[in-house]
Amino acid sequence: MEALAHACQPDQADEDISTPEAHFSPREFKVYTHRQLDRIRQVQALSEQQRFEMKVVSQVLPFRVNDYVLDELIDWNNIPDDPIFRLVFPQREMLQPEHFDEVAALVRADASSAEMAPVIKRVRDALNPHPAGQMDLNLPMLDGEPLPGMQHKYRETVLFFPSQGQVCHSYCTFCFRWAQFVGDKELRFASSEADQLHRYLAEHREVSDLLVTGGDPMVMKARHLRGYLEGLKKPELAHVTNIRIGSKSLTFWPYRFVTDPDADDVLALLRELVDAGKHVAFMAHFNHWREMETPICREAIRRIRATGAQIRTQAPLLHHINDDADTWTRMWRTQVQLGLVPYYMFVERDTGAQHYFEVPLVKAWEIYREAMQRVSGLARTARGPSMSADPGKVEIQGVTEINGEKVFVLRFIQGRNPDWVQRPFFARYDETATWLPDLKPALGAEKFFYEEEFDALKDEKLALI
Ligand SMILES: *Cc1c(COP(=O)(O)O)cnc(C)c1O
Repeated sequence: MEALAHACQPDQADEDISTPEAHFSPREFKVYTHRQLDRIRQVQALSEQQRFEMKVVSQVLPFRVNDYVLDELIDWNNIPDDPIFRLVFPQREMLQPEHFDEVAALVRADASSAEMAPVIKRVRDALNPHPAGQMDLNLPMLDGEPLPGMQHKYRETVLFFPSQGQVCHSYCTFCFRWAQFVGDKELRFASSEADQLHRYLAEHREVSDLLVTGGDPMVMKARHLRGYLEGLKKPELAHVTNIRIGSKSLTFWPYRFVTDPDADDVLALLRELVDAGKHVAFMAHFNHWREMETPICREAIRRIRATGAQIRTQAPLLHHINDDADTWTRMWRTQVQLGLVPYYMFVERDTGAQHYFEVPLVKAWEIYREAMQRVSGLARTARGPSMSADPGKVEIQGVTEINGEKVFVLRFIQGRNPDWVQRPFFARYDETATWLPDLKPALGAEKFFYEEEFDALKDEKLALI
Protein backbone atom coordinates (compact mmCIF):
# COMPACT_ATOMS: atom_id res chain seq x y z
CA MET A 1 0.00 0.00 0.00
CA GLU A 2 2.70 2.41 1.01
CA ALA A 3 4.62 1.76 -2.17
CA LEU A 4 1.56 2.62 -4.23
CA ALA A 5 0.81 5.81 -2.34
CA HIS A 6 4.37 6.84 -2.86
CA ALA A 7 4.20 6.11 -6.58
CA CYS A 8 1.25 8.51 -6.85
CA GLN A 9 3.61 11.39 -6.39
CA PRO A 10 6.02 12.42 -9.04
CA ASP A 11 9.20 12.97 -7.09
CA GLN A 12 9.15 12.94 -3.32
CA ALA A 13 6.31 11.50 -1.31
CA ASP A 14 6.22 14.46 1.03
CA GLU A 15 5.78 17.15 -1.59
CA ASP A 16 2.62 19.20 -1.92
CA ILE A 17 0.34 17.43 -4.36
CA SER A 18 -1.94 20.45 -4.85
CA THR A 19 0.49 22.09 -7.28
CA PRO A 20 1.83 19.07 -9.07
CA GLU A 21 2.16 20.57 -12.55
CA ALA A 22 5.55 21.93 -11.66
CA HIS A 23 6.95 18.42 -11.41
CA PHE A 24 6.07 17.29 -14.91
CA SER A 25 7.87 18.65 -17.92
CA PRO A 26 5.92 18.76 -21.17
CA ARG A 27 6.86 15.98 -23.53
CA GLU A 28 6.91 16.28 -27.27
CA PHE A 29 4.66 13.71 -28.90
CA LYS A 30 6.99 11.67 -31.08
CA VAL A 31 5.35 8.87 -33.01
CA TYR A 32 6.60 5.98 -35.18
CA THR A 33 4.63 3.99 -37.76
CA HIS A 34 5.63 0.90 -39.76
CA ARG A 35 7.69 3.09 -42.09
CA GLN A 36 9.86 4.24 -39.20
CA LEU A 37 10.24 0.91 -37.40
CA ASP A 38 13.98 0.88 -38.15
CA ARG A 39 14.43 4.28 -36.56
CA ILE A 40 13.30 3.18 -33.12
CA ARG A 41 16.44 3.02 -30.99
CA GLN A 42 15.26 0.07 -28.90
CA VAL A 43 14.22 -1.85 -32.01
CA GLN A 44 17.66 -1.40 -33.53
CA ALA A 45 19.00 -3.53 -30.70
CA LEU A 46 16.76 -6.49 -31.60
CA SER A 47 17.86 -9.29 -33.90
CA GLU A 48 17.69 -9.03 -37.69
CA GLN A 49 15.09 -11.81 -37.68
CA GLN A 50 12.83 -10.03 -35.17
CA ARG A 51 13.00 -6.80 -37.11
CA PHE A 52 12.17 -8.55 -40.36
CA GLU A 53 9.17 -10.30 -38.80
CA MET A 54 7.86 -7.02 -37.44
CA LYS A 55 8.24 -5.39 -40.80
CA VAL A 56 6.25 -8.17 -42.46
CA VAL A 57 3.39 -8.19 -39.96
CA SER A 58 3.14 -4.39 -39.91
CA GLN A 59 2.39 -4.46 -43.65
CA VAL A 60 -0.93 -6.03 -42.72
CA LEU A 61 -1.85 -4.97 -39.18
CA PRO A 62 -1.62 -1.39 -37.95
CA PHE A 63 1.47 -0.26 -36.04
CA ARG A 64 1.98 3.04 -34.27
CA VAL A 65 3.91 3.74 -31.10
CA ASN A 66 5.22 6.83 -29.35
CA ASP A 67 8.30 7.34 -27.26
CA TYR A 68 6.44 7.50 -23.92
CA VAL A 69 5.36 3.90 -24.53
CA LEU A 70 8.85 2.97 -25.72
CA ASP A 71 10.75 4.63 -22.88
CA GLU A 72 8.41 4.33 -19.88
CA LEU A 73 6.13 1.34 -20.37
CA ILE A 74 8.13 -1.39 -22.12
CA ASP A 75 10.73 -3.39 -20.24
CA TRP A 76 13.35 -3.92 -22.96
CA ASN A 77 15.12 -6.51 -20.86
CA ASN A 78 12.14 -8.81 -21.24
CA ILE A 79 11.59 -9.06 -25.00
CA PRO A 80 9.41 -10.54 -26.46
CA ASP A 81 7.51 -11.52 -23.29
CA ASP A 82 6.96 -8.05 -21.94
CA PRO A 83 3.18 -7.52 -21.99
CA ILE A 84 3.37 -3.92 -23.21
CA PHE A 85 5.75 -4.95 -25.98
CA ARG A 86 3.21 -7.54 -27.13
CA LEU A 87 0.47 -4.95 -26.79
CA VAL A 88 2.01 -2.65 -29.40
CA PHE A 89 4.63 -4.53 -31.42
CA PRO A 90 3.72 -6.89 -34.26
CA GLN A 91 4.77 -10.52 -33.73
CA ARG A 92 5.24 -13.14 -36.40
CA GLU A 93 2.55 -15.44 -34.97
CA MET A 94 -0.08 -12.72 -35.32
CA LEU A 95 -0.40 -13.78 -38.96
CA GLN A 96 -1.28 -17.30 -40.07
CA PRO A 97 1.90 -19.00 -41.36
CA GLU A 98 0.73 -19.01 -45.00
CA HIS A 99 -0.15 -15.31 -44.83
CA PHE A 100 3.15 -14.51 -43.19
CA ASP A 101 5.14 -16.40 -45.82
CA GLU A 102 3.33 -14.72 -48.65
CA VAL A 103 3.95 -11.21 -47.37
CA ALA A 104 7.49 -12.08 -46.27
CA ALA A 105 8.37 -13.14 -49.81
CA LEU A 106 7.27 -9.74 -51.10
CA VAL A 107 9.17 -7.84 -48.42
CA ARG A 108 12.28 -9.89 -49.07
CA ALA A 109 12.00 -9.19 -52.81
CA ASP A 110 11.63 -5.49 -52.06
CA ALA A 111 8.32 -5.49 -53.96
CA SER A 112 6.73 -2.18 -54.88
CA SER A 113 3.66 -1.03 -52.99
CA ALA A 114 1.62 -1.63 -56.16
CA GLU A 115 2.72 -5.27 -56.14
CA MET A 116 2.07 -5.63 -52.41
CA ALA A 117 -1.34 -3.98 -52.31
CA PRO A 118 -3.51 -6.80 -53.70
CA VAL A 119 -1.83 -9.43 -51.51
CA ILE A 120 -2.15 -7.30 -48.41
CA LYS A 121 -5.79 -6.59 -49.19
CA ARG A 122 -6.53 -10.29 -49.59
CA VAL A 123 -4.85 -11.12 -46.27
CA ARG A 124 -6.72 -8.33 -44.49
CA ASP A 125 -10.01 -9.45 -45.99
CA ALA A 126 -9.38 -12.92 -44.60
CA LEU A 127 -9.14 -11.48 -41.08
CA ASN A 128 -12.83 -10.57 -40.71
CA PRO A 129 -12.25 -6.80 -40.67
CA HIS A 130 -15.86 -6.11 -39.66
CA PRO A 131 -16.90 -8.13 -36.65
CA ALA A 132 -20.39 -7.99 -35.12
CA GLY A 133 -22.22 -6.36 -38.03
CA GLN A 134 -20.66 -2.99 -37.33
CA MET A 135 -21.10 -1.75 -40.89
CA ASP A 136 -24.74 -2.50 -41.55
CA LEU A 137 -26.73 -3.61 -38.58
CA ASN A 138 -26.02 -0.72 -36.26
CA LEU A 139 -26.41 2.20 -38.66
CA PRO A 140 -28.76 4.89 -37.39
CA MET A 141 -30.94 6.82 -39.84
CA LEU A 142 -31.73 10.54 -39.95
CA ASP A 143 -34.22 11.99 -42.46
CA GLY A 144 -34.21 8.63 -44.25
CA GLU A 145 -30.41 8.68 -44.68
CA PRO A 146 -27.90 6.50 -42.85
CA LEU A 147 -25.48 8.32 -40.52
CA PRO A 148 -22.08 6.77 -41.15
CA GLY A 149 -20.29 8.25 -38.14
CA MET A 150 -22.61 6.68 -35.61
CA GLN A 151 -23.83 3.32 -34.36
CA HIS A 152 -26.98 2.63 -32.43
CA LYS A 153 -27.10 -0.99 -31.39
CA TYR A 154 -28.54 -0.90 -27.88
CA ARG A 155 -31.56 1.22 -27.06
CA GLU A 156 -30.00 3.46 -24.40
CA THR A 157 -26.60 4.10 -25.93
CA VAL A 158 -25.44 5.79 -29.12
CA LEU A 159 -21.84 5.44 -30.29
CA PHE A 160 -20.28 8.42 -32.01
CA PHE A 161 -17.03 8.37 -34.02
CA PRO A 162 -15.79 11.95 -34.42
CA SER A 163 -13.72 12.27 -37.59
CA GLN A 164 -10.81 13.98 -35.81
CA GLY A 165 -10.58 11.13 -33.32
CA GLN A 166 -10.06 8.14 -35.60
CA VAL A 167 -6.46 7.40 -34.64
CA CYS A 168 -4.87 6.57 -31.28
CA HIS A 169 -1.67 7.75 -29.62
CA SER A 170 -0.40 4.23 -30.22
CA TYR A 171 -2.12 1.11 -31.59
CA CYS A 172 -2.90 -2.13 -29.82
CA THR A 173 -1.99 -5.25 -31.76
CA PHE A 174 -5.32 -6.88 -30.79
CA CYS A 175 -7.57 -3.91 -31.61
CA PHE A 176 -10.94 -5.03 -32.96
CA ARG A 177 -11.11 -1.76 -34.89
CA TRP A 178 -7.75 -2.41 -36.56
CA ALA A 179 -9.23 -2.25 -40.07
CA GLN A 180 -10.06 1.42 -39.79
CA PHE A 181 -6.42 2.24 -39.03
CA VAL A 182 -4.90 0.69 -42.13
CA GLY A 183 -6.23 3.30 -44.49
CA ASP A 184 -9.22 1.49 -45.92
CA LYS A 185 -11.62 4.40 -46.32
CA GLU A 186 -14.64 2.13 -46.63
CA LEU A 187 -13.96 0.83 -43.17
CA ARG A 188 -13.83 4.21 -41.54
CA PHE A 189 -17.05 5.23 -39.94
CA ALA A 190 -16.38 8.78 -38.93
CA SER A 191 -18.49 11.87 -38.70
CA SER A 192 -17.63 15.52 -38.45
CA GLU A 193 -21.23 16.47 -38.02
CA ALA A 194 -21.93 17.64 -34.50
CA ASP A 195 -25.20 18.98 -35.78
CA GLN A 196 -26.34 15.60 -37.11
CA LEU A 197 -25.37 13.97 -33.85
CA HIS A 198 -27.38 16.45 -31.82
CA ARG A 199 -30.40 16.20 -34.13
CA TYR A 200 -30.36 12.42 -34.00
CA LEU A 201 -30.14 12.44 -30.21
CA ALA A 202 -32.94 15.02 -29.94
CA GLU A 203 -35.17 12.68 -31.97
CA HIS A 204 -34.33 9.68 -29.80
CA ARG A 205 -35.57 10.30 -26.32
CA GLU A 206 -34.86 6.69 -25.36
CA VAL A 207 -31.12 7.43 -25.50
CA SER A 208 -29.60 8.19 -22.10
CA ASP A 209 -25.95 7.60 -23.01
CA LEU A 210 -23.67 8.99 -25.65
CA LEU A 211 -20.44 7.05 -26.03
CA VAL A 212 -17.78 8.99 -27.89
CA THR A 213 -15.28 6.58 -29.32
CA GLY A 214 -12.76 6.08 -32.12
CA GLY A 215 -9.84 5.57 -32.47
CA ASP A 216 -9.33 7.64 -29.41
CA PRO A 217 -11.39 10.82 -28.98
CA MET A 218 -8.64 12.13 -26.70
CA VAL A 219 -6.30 12.66 -29.66
CA MET A 220 -8.62 15.55 -30.57
CA LYS A 221 -7.93 19.14 -29.72
CA ALA A 222 -10.06 20.37 -26.85
CA ARG A 223 -11.91 22.79 -29.13
CA HIS A 224 -13.01 19.96 -31.44
CA LEU A 225 -14.20 17.88 -28.52
CA ARG A 226 -16.05 20.92 -27.26
CA GLY A 227 -17.80 21.26 -30.63
CA TYR A 228 -19.36 17.83 -30.14
CA LEU A 229 -20.02 17.85 -26.41
CA GLU A 230 -20.95 21.38 -25.41
CA GLY A 231 -24.24 21.14 -27.31
CA LEU A 232 -25.36 18.29 -25.05
CA LYS A 233 -26.19 20.91 -22.42
CA LYS A 234 -29.12 22.11 -24.58
CA PRO A 235 -32.53 21.51 -22.97
CA GLU A 236 -33.70 19.32 -25.87
CA LEU A 237 -30.86 16.91 -25.01
CA ALA A 238 -31.60 16.77 -21.28
CA HIS A 239 -32.49 13.07 -21.71
CA VAL A 240 -28.85 12.33 -22.62
CA THR A 241 -27.72 12.26 -19.02
CA ASN A 242 -24.53 10.23 -19.41
CA ILE A 243 -21.55 11.08 -21.56
CA ARG A 244 -18.93 8.39 -21.94
CA ILE A 245 -15.56 8.84 -23.58
CA GLY A 246 -13.75 5.67 -24.58
CA SER A 247 -9.99 6.17 -24.41
CA LYS A 248 -6.62 4.55 -24.01
CA SER A 249 -4.85 7.87 -23.56
CA LEU A 250 -4.15 7.24 -19.86
CA THR A 251 -1.91 4.42 -21.05
CA PHE A 252 -0.55 5.78 -24.29
CA TRP A 253 -0.34 9.52 -23.65
CA PRO A 254 -1.22 10.71 -20.12
CA TYR A 255 0.47 14.04 -20.89
CA ARG A 256 -2.80 14.83 -22.66
CA PHE A 257 -4.25 15.71 -19.24
CA VAL A 258 -1.20 17.19 -17.55
CA THR A 259 1.23 19.09 -19.75
CA ASP A 260 -0.16 19.22 -23.32
CA PRO A 261 -0.96 22.81 -24.37
CA ASP A 262 -4.73 22.29 -24.10
CA ALA A 263 -4.70 19.88 -21.14
CA ASP A 264 -6.47 22.40 -18.93
CA ASP A 265 -9.04 23.15 -21.65
CA VAL A 266 -10.03 19.52 -21.97
CA LEU A 267 -10.38 19.19 -18.20
CA ALA A 268 -12.41 22.41 -18.07
CA LEU A 269 -14.80 20.91 -20.64
CA LEU A 270 -15.30 17.77 -18.55
CA ARG A 271 -15.91 19.89 -15.46
CA GLU A 272 -18.44 22.04 -17.32
CA LEU A 273 -20.43 19.00 -18.38
CA VAL A 274 -20.36 17.68 -14.83
CA ASP A 275 -21.50 21.06 -13.52
CA ALA A 276 -24.33 21.01 -16.08
CA GLY A 277 -25.60 17.85 -14.37
CA LYS A 278 -24.19 15.23 -16.75
CA HIS A 279 -22.57 12.04 -15.59
CA VAL A 280 -19.25 12.09 -17.39
CA ALA A 281 -17.69 8.64 -17.56
CA PHE A 282 -14.17 8.30 -18.83
CA MET A 283 -14.04 4.70 -20.09
CA ALA A 284 -10.37 3.88 -19.68
CA HIS A 285 -8.86 0.92 -21.44
CA PHE A 286 -6.20 -0.80 -19.30
CA ASN A 287 -4.90 -4.27 -20.12
CA HIS A 288 -2.26 -4.54 -17.46
CA TRP A 289 -1.51 -2.93 -14.09
CA ARG A 290 1.85 -1.82 -15.46
CA GLU A 291 0.08 0.84 -17.54
CA MET A 292 -0.99 2.60 -14.33
CA GLU A 293 2.35 2.70 -12.54
CA THR A 294 3.99 5.80 -14.01
CA PRO A 295 3.78 9.06 -12.06
CA ILE A 296 2.42 10.87 -15.11
CA CYS A 297 -0.44 8.38 -15.46
CA ARG A 298 -1.26 8.73 -11.75
CA GLU A 299 -1.31 12.48 -12.12
CA ALA A 300 -3.57 12.32 -15.20
CA ILE A 301 -5.99 10.11 -13.27
CA ARG A 302 -5.96 12.53 -10.34
CA ARG A 303 -6.67 15.49 -12.61
CA ILE A 304 -9.52 13.82 -14.49
CA ARG A 305 -11.16 12.74 -11.25
CA ALA A 306 -10.82 16.25 -9.86
CA THR A 307 -13.21 17.45 -12.60
CA GLY A 308 -15.97 15.29 -11.14
CA ALA A 309 -15.79 12.81 -14.03
CA GLN A 310 -15.79 9.12 -13.13
CA ILE A 311 -13.20 6.79 -14.56
CA ARG A 312 -14.44 3.29 -15.39
CA THR A 313 -12.16 0.63 -16.77
CA GLN A 314 -12.44 -2.11 -19.36
CA ALA A 315 -10.20 -4.47 -21.28
CA PRO A 316 -10.17 -7.69 -23.21
CA LEU A 317 -8.56 -10.79 -21.77
CA LEU A 318 -5.61 -11.63 -24.02
CA HIS A 319 -3.34 -14.62 -24.40
CA HIS A 320 0.35 -13.49 -24.02
CA ILE A 321 -0.63 -10.25 -22.27
CA ASN A 322 -3.00 -10.70 -19.33
CA ASP A 323 -4.29 -14.29 -19.33
CA ASP A 324 -3.73 -15.00 -15.65
CA ALA A 325 -5.64 -14.20 -12.48
CA ASP A 326 -2.67 -12.47 -10.80
CA THR A 327 -2.56 -9.77 -13.46
CA TRP A 328 -6.29 -9.07 -13.21
CA THR A 329 -6.26 -9.16 -9.42
CA ARG A 330 -3.50 -6.61 -9.21
CA MET A 331 -5.03 -4.52 -12.00
CA TRP A 332 -8.46 -4.33 -10.33
CA ARG A 333 -6.96 -3.68 -6.88
CA THR A 334 -4.84 -0.85 -8.24
CA GLN A 335 -7.81 0.63 -10.04
CA VAL A 336 -10.01 0.60 -6.97
CA GLN A 337 -7.30 2.18 -4.89
CA LEU A 338 -6.92 4.96 -7.45
CA GLY A 339 -10.65 5.57 -7.44
CA LEU A 340 -11.41 3.90 -10.78
CA VAL A 341 -14.41 1.63 -11.21
CA PRO A 342 -13.77 -1.74 -12.92
CA TYR A 343 -16.48 -2.15 -15.55
CA TYR A 344 -15.92 -4.91 -18.14
CA MET A 345 -13.68 -7.87 -18.85
CA PHE A 346 -14.13 -8.66 -22.55
CA VAL A 347 -13.42 -11.76 -24.58
CA GLU A 348 -11.10 -11.04 -27.53
CA ARG A 349 -13.20 -10.58 -30.65
CA ASP A 350 -13.30 -12.67 -33.81
CA THR A 351 -11.16 -10.39 -35.95
CA GLY A 352 -7.55 -9.56 -36.82
CA ALA A 353 -5.03 -11.62 -34.90
CA GLN A 354 -7.72 -13.39 -32.85
CA HIS A 355 -5.91 -16.74 -33.16
CA TYR A 356 -2.90 -15.22 -31.38
CA PHE A 357 -4.80 -13.61 -28.50
CA GLU A 358 -7.78 -15.89 -27.99
CA VAL A 359 -8.38 -17.66 -24.71
CA PRO A 360 -10.91 -20.52 -24.40
CA LEU A 361 -14.14 -19.31 -22.80
CA VAL A 362 -13.77 -21.76 -19.95
CA LYS A 363 -10.30 -20.44 -19.14
CA ALA A 364 -11.56 -16.85 -19.36
CA TRP A 365 -14.24 -17.67 -16.83
CA GLU A 366 -11.72 -19.37 -14.51
CA ILE A 367 -9.43 -16.33 -14.61
CA TYR A 368 -12.35 -13.98 -13.97
CA ARG A 369 -13.61 -16.08 -11.10
CA GLU A 370 -10.22 -16.50 -9.47
CA ALA A 371 -9.45 -12.78 -9.69
CA MET A 372 -12.93 -11.90 -8.36
CA GLN A 373 -12.42 -14.18 -5.38
CA ARG A 374 -9.29 -12.28 -4.44
CA VAL A 375 -10.62 -8.73 -4.54
CA SER A 376 -13.05 -6.91 -2.31
CA GLY A 377 -16.58 -6.06 -3.34
CA LEU A 378 -15.45 -2.66 -4.60
CA ALA A 379 -13.69 -4.37 -7.51
CA ARG A 380 -16.51 -6.83 -8.20
CA THR A 381 -18.25 -4.23 -10.33
CA ALA A 382 -16.43 -5.68 -13.35
CA ARG A 383 -18.75 -7.84 -15.44
CA GLY A 384 -17.56 -10.56 -17.74
CA PRO A 385 -16.07 -12.35 -19.41
CA SER A 386 -18.28 -10.74 -22.02
CA MET A 387 -18.48 -11.37 -25.77
CA SER A 388 -19.56 -8.35 -27.82
CA ALA A 389 -21.22 -10.38 -30.53
CA ASP A 390 -23.86 -9.73 -33.18
CA PRO A 391 -26.95 -10.26 -31.01
CA GLY A 392 -25.52 -8.51 -27.96
CA LYS A 393 -23.07 -8.72 -25.11
CA VAL A 394 -23.10 -12.28 -23.82
CA GLU A 395 -21.52 -13.03 -20.47
CA ILE A 396 -20.15 -16.40 -19.41
CA GLN A 397 -21.61 -16.79 -15.96
CA GLY A 398 -20.09 -20.15 -15.29
CA VAL A 399 -19.93 -23.86 -15.87
CA THR A 400 -22.31 -26.26 -14.16
CA GLU A 401 -24.13 -29.56 -14.57
CA ILE A 402 -27.83 -29.87 -15.25
CA ASN A 403 -29.40 -33.34 -15.34
CA GLY A 404 -25.96 -34.83 -15.83
CA GLU A 405 -25.10 -32.55 -18.78
CA LYS A 406 -22.13 -30.20 -18.42
CA VAL A 407 -23.13 -26.72 -19.62
CA PHE A 408 -22.07 -23.10 -19.86
CA VAL A 409 -24.47 -20.73 -18.13
CA LEU A 410 -24.77 -17.56 -20.21
CA ARG A 411 -26.70 -14.31 -20.05
CA PHE A 412 -27.07 -11.18 -22.12
CA ILE A 413 -25.75 -8.06 -20.43
CA GLN A 414 -26.85 -6.12 -23.50
CA GLY A 415 -29.17 -7.25 -26.26
CA ARG A 416 -30.39 -5.92 -29.56
CA ASN A 417 -33.76 -6.62 -28.02
CA PRO A 418 -33.72 -5.30 -24.44
CA ASP A 419 -36.06 -8.13 -23.49
CA TRP A 420 -33.19 -10.62 -23.87
CA VAL A 421 -31.16 -8.94 -21.12
CA GLN A 422 -30.65 -10.95 -17.90
CA ARG A 423 -32.24 -14.16 -19.20
CA PRO A 424 -30.03 -17.10 -18.36
CA PHE A 425 -29.46 -19.61 -21.16
CA PHE A 426 -27.32 -22.67 -21.66
CA ALA A 427 -24.75 -23.94 -24.12
CA ARG A 428 -23.08 -27.32 -24.31
CA TYR A 429 -19.78 -27.31 -22.47
CA ASP A 430 -16.90 -27.07 -24.93
CA GLU A 431 -13.41 -26.60 -23.63
CA THR A 432 -12.09 -25.29 -26.94
CA ALA A 433 -14.84 -22.72 -27.68
CA THR A 434 -13.52 -19.15 -27.85
CA TRP A 435 -16.45 -17.22 -29.34
CA LEU A 436 -20.24 -17.27 -29.44
CA PRO A 437 -20.70 -19.13 -32.78
CA ASP A 438 -18.56 -21.98 -31.38
CA LEU A 439 -21.30 -22.66 -28.84
CA LYS A 440 -24.24 -25.04 -29.36
CA PRO A 441 -27.48 -25.03 -27.41
CA ALA A 442 -27.60 -27.47 -24.49
CA LEU A 443 -30.30 -29.60 -22.88
CA GLY A 444 -31.78 -30.80 -26.15
CA ALA A 445 -32.60 -27.33 -27.53
CA GLU A 446 -32.22 -26.81 -31.30
CA LYS A 447 -31.53 -23.08 -31.12
CA PHE A 448 -30.72 -20.46 -28.52
CA PHE A 449 -33.85 -18.66 -27.34
CA TYR A 450 -33.07 -15.44 -29.19
CA GLU A 451 -31.97 -16.83 -32.55
CA GLU A 452 -35.22 -16.78 -34.51
CA GLU A 453 -36.03 -13.28 -33.40
CA PHE A 454 -32.49 -12.11 -34.14
CA ASP A 455 -32.63 -13.48 -37.70
CA ALA A 456 -35.93 -11.67 -38.27
CA LEU A 457 -34.49 -8.44 -36.80
CA LYS A 458 -31.48 -8.70 -39.12
CA ASP A 459 -33.63 -9.15 -42.24
CA GLU A 460 -35.76 -6.18 -41.26
CA LYS A 461 -32.75 -3.91 -40.62
CA LEU A 462 -30.88 -4.88 -43.76
CA ALA A 463 -34.00 -4.30 -45.85
CA LEU A 464 -34.03 -0.68 -44.65
CA ILE A 465 -30.53 0.14 -45.87
C1 LIG B 1 -20.89 -2.23 -25.06
C2 LIG B 1 -21.60 -1.40 -26.04
C3 LIG B 1 -22.40 -0.35 -25.62
C4 LIG B 1 -22.57 0.01 -24.16
O1 LIG B 1 -23.21 -0.98 -23.42
P1 LIG B 1 -23.33 -0.81 -21.83
O2 LIG B 1 -23.82 -2.13 -21.35
O3 LIG B 1 -24.32 0.28 -21.59
O4 LIG B 1 -21.98 -0.49 -21.33
C5 LIG B 1 -23.07 0.37 -26.58
N1 LIG B 1 -22.98 0.09 -27.90
C6 LIG B 1 -22.22 -0.93 -28.34
C7 LIG B 1 -22.17 -1.23 -29.81
C8 LIG B 1 -21.50 -1.71 -27.43
O5 LIG B 1 -20.74 -2.71 -27.88
